[in-house]
Amino acid sequence: LINNEDYSSLLAERAAHVGRNLSISYRQKLKIVRGALQYLYDDKGNTYVDCVNNPSHAGHCHPVVVKRMQKQIATLNTNTRYLHDHIVDYAKKLTAKLPPSLSVCYFTNSGSEANDLAIRMARHFTGQKDIIVLDHAYHGTSTVAMEMSPYKFDSKGGFGKMPWIHKAQNPDTYRGPYKYADADAGKKYAADVQRITGELKQANKAPAAFICETLLGVGGQIPLPANYLPEVYKHIRNAGGVCIADEVQVGFGRIGDHFWGFELQDVIPDIVVMGKPIGNGHPLAAVVVTNEIADAFNNGLEYFNTFGGNPVSMAAGIAVLDVIESEQMQQHAKDTGEYLMNGLRQLMQQYTIIGDVRGHGLFIGAELVKDRTTLEPAIPEIDKVVEYVKSKGYLLSTDGPLHNVLKIKPPMPFNNNNADELLQYLGEAFSLL
Ligand code: PMP
Repeated sequence: LINNEDYSSLLAERAAHVGRNLSISYRQKLKIVRGALQYLYDDKGNTYVDCVNNPSHAGHCHPVVVKRMQKQIATLNTNTRYLHDHIVDYAKKLTAKLPPSLSVCYFTNSGSEANDLAIRMARHFTGQKDIIVLDHAYHGTSTVAMEMSPYKFDSKGGFGKMPWIHKAQNPDTYRGPYKYADADAGKKYAADVQRITGELKQANKAPAAFICETLLGVGGQIPLPANYLPEVYKHIRNAGGVCIADEVQVGFGRIGDHFWGFELQDVIPDIVVMGKPIGNGHPLAAVVVTNEIADAFNNGLEYFNTFGGNPVSMAAGIAVLDVIESEQMQQHAKDTGEYLMNGLRQLMQQYTIIGDVRGHGLFIGAELVKDRTTLEPAIPEIDKVVEYVKSKGYLLSTDGPLHNVLKIKPPMPFNNNNADELLQYLGEAFSLL
């Protein structure tokens, strides 16, 4: 039974004074007042297990992160025009997690701003303007990031595709033309990027950059097929472009086997964009580039960012890296993710509505279909499943171009007990459909 009576004045005041084009999750609205690791608490004292909020990577209000930020904000918070140890310590710590060629950091306050900056740098470096993106991708909410996001510009109210943006096929081996069983699927999807570089060449142009997530988030929780990025990066570099990896959703050990998503594909990007988990929910993001790209960007025009790289953000970033390491969160994500995915695959044998289970570590998708042959998306069933599971205290979200993918990307402390319960409630939800 849906009853938002308690919140009617809050909802009305929000509608009057806060930007309106934002949907609030769930039919029965939630007023969350406190968080601790993988748990959220509402104003009525109910506890929820958060299966969604990857920005709270180390866990909501992780005590080590909180303490370090509290100490710093009580000491100094200012811009980066003074010398300070934190920014250098953090840049060294962060680049130590990357291949040696990725050595120079720029700190921003959101993933959108970071992607925007990455594109500017790619354009400086190449002298070109055109950008190749993947269909259905989302890279952020600034004007440039929106231009790179078919998920936004192609949707209702969107401004459409700009002529300098080129959409390549989403390498979706479940739903796309080349399937899981096709060992050459990666290469075949990459050929669509080569098609675009060929068309640009005919028009006497070249790509400034290719950008994609290293596992596709908004595109539907899709791991890239083998050999996809090596082939794409080869085509882009042959055409003189720069390869950008958007690690905003998947970076920082979430995928278990590796610290970064691009490592799954055994490639080295020219630019890596990070956000969400990097500051455990604090507004911090980063662009990390090669020395050559940093030099080209340093062309006399200053780059200054009032809040980017401030001592409190840097304290948060350092604390997150420390906690990931001291609590062995990457290994935990690998073990817990495999456990949960195995459970989902068992449910898949019982319930035909689960068409596909995919992911790495704690970045998991389960695609729901009405029919495993036609792949007709299971809508509205998926919403019923999400609402049922929520009524049992587990918060899930949905994603993908057809809104039929259950999206699981919890704070990293999510554990096997949480997985067991989630699987139980999912099973109940499927049996009730
Ligand atoms: N890139 C990706 C892949 C994202 O998922 C997002 C946010 N959903 C962004 C960039 C933009 O980040 P932000 O919301 O911090 O601006």
